[in-house]
Amino acid sequence: MTAHPPFPDIASLWQQTATDRPVFGALAGGHQFDVAIIGGGYTGMTTARYLARRGLSTVVLEASRIGWGASGRNGGVVSGKFRISFSDIASRHGLDTARRMHDLGIESIDHVGELVEDYGIVAADYRPTGSLRCAHNAVSLASLKKEADWLRQALGDNACSMLSAEEMATETGSRDFVGGMLNTHGGIIHPLNFVLGIATGLKAAGIPIFENTPVTDLRREESGVLLETPGGTITARQAVIATNSYSDLTKATAAVRKAIIPFRSAMIATEPLSGRAGSQLLAKGRSYTETRRMMRWFRKAGDRLLYGGRGAFGKTDSESAFAALHKAMVRQFPELSDAAVTHRWSGLVAMTMDSIPHVGRLDDRIVYAVGYNGTGVALASTMGKHVAAIVAGENPDLGLLTSERLKSVPFYPIREPAVRLVAGWYQFLDAIGR
Ligand SMILES: Cc1cc2nc3c(=O)[nH]c(=O)nc-3n(C[C@H](O)[C@H](O)[C@H](O)COP(=O)(O)OP(=O)(O)OC[C@H]3O[C@@H](n4cnc5c(N)ncnc54)[C@H](O)[C@@H]3O)c2cc1C
Repeated sequence: MTAHPPFPDIASLWQQTATDRPVFGALAGGHQFDVAIIGGGYTGMTTARYLARRGLSTVVLEASRIGWGASGRNGGVVSGKFRISFSDIASRHGLDTARRMHDLGIESIDHVGELVEDYGIVAADYRPTGSLRCAHNAVSLASLKKEADWLRQALGDNACSMLSAEEMATETGSRDFVGGMLNTHGGIIHPLNFVLGIATGLKAAGIPIFENTPVTDLRREESGVLLETPGGTITARQAVIATNSYSDLTKATAAVRKAIIPFRSAMIATEPLSGRAGSQLLAKGRSYTETRRMMRWFRKAGDRLLYGGRGAFGKTDSESAFAALHKAMVRQFPELSDAAVTHRWSGLVAMTMDSIPHVGRLDDRIVYAVGYNGTGVALASTMGKHVAAIVAGENPDLGLLTSERLKSVPFYPIREPAVRLVAGWYQFLDAIGR
């Protein structure tokens, strides 16, 4: 753990195509606010939006630049799902909880549209084109069908329909899938322009944001909290930890760090495609995910195809992880064998023990929202509304998100080899078609 690590921008397609980046200075001197937010991603930005609406003075402190974390480097898939299916949630926790979680998902998707409209974020290029689950075998297809039937019957959600192998070939341009499930909820977005657009909106509303300002310590003081940064301090009545998978940058966020297993997710982008590849692959511009345990996913971004999946184990990228993604992409889309890969990048997703995000209070002065398990574009950018309510002393119904206190990962000191072991087992099961 370093007190003030260097934060170079990553070489992502999103960085290269970012527009209208607002610039914020670093904190200097001592200041006082009602609430200080640590982390300048979707969670931190939207928490500031809703706290300001409640008339509370608010500041956002970002260690690097806005969107440096997962919010600026993700796949831009807007979805309202959780890692656990809604039918599993119902069988473990009851139908009412499943319904509440489903409502939260739909609310989150709608909220993305609201933010884009409210702040006029044209550059986010939000397309509510829906998502397609691509079944790699008959067992997976049957379980997709079961989930679609359950959603219709139990929750009255008619958004899902089943597609045949032939329809999947037309939809994706690949013959690799035995069928699929189309869900008309959700879509795709330019993730970095989305968070930058929110930051621009906050700036216009006069909400202070500081970049290159890592919070190096967070302490309880007599009547609130004290946040230390290299250039200055903040005293506040409450603090919000919105650092998700990047919660180990400094000791200030140690309280949430041990509840998260960081897992590297990587992505490659092709050059702009032309010919058959350009016109027939993923022609409807949805988001697409495979049903394998070690899920791979893909989408178009303009004329390029983006392909993502597991990244390297450990702290840095590896050639072999990118090569594995490229190999999988070409196997599924043979037309891409000659297409140049122009961008490769990765980031950390925050897994939790129960695969559910956690939002709540650590104590009377610190609120947190972390653990989106790789599905935070819509959820994290909606969570600010609920975090603001918690800061204000309310107790919003967040289903399973608040049902338990933040739990530490029991094997935290050996989390890296443990993740490697589990991933290896999943890859083995996928390889033998189980
Ligand atoms: C490669 C990848 C692909 C993904 N794809 C998708 C997808 O397609 N769809 C989807 O729904 N989700 C996806 N996700 C997940 C999604 O991006 C995250 O859930 C979401 O961005 C979390 O937002 P956040 O604001 O909570 O955290 P972040 O955006 O990670 O922001 C946390 C910020 O906190 C800052 N920070 C940390 N410590 C400190 C400190 N001490 N002081 C000040 N600042 C600090 C960091 O610099 C960082 O900018 C993906 C994630 C990754 C990594």
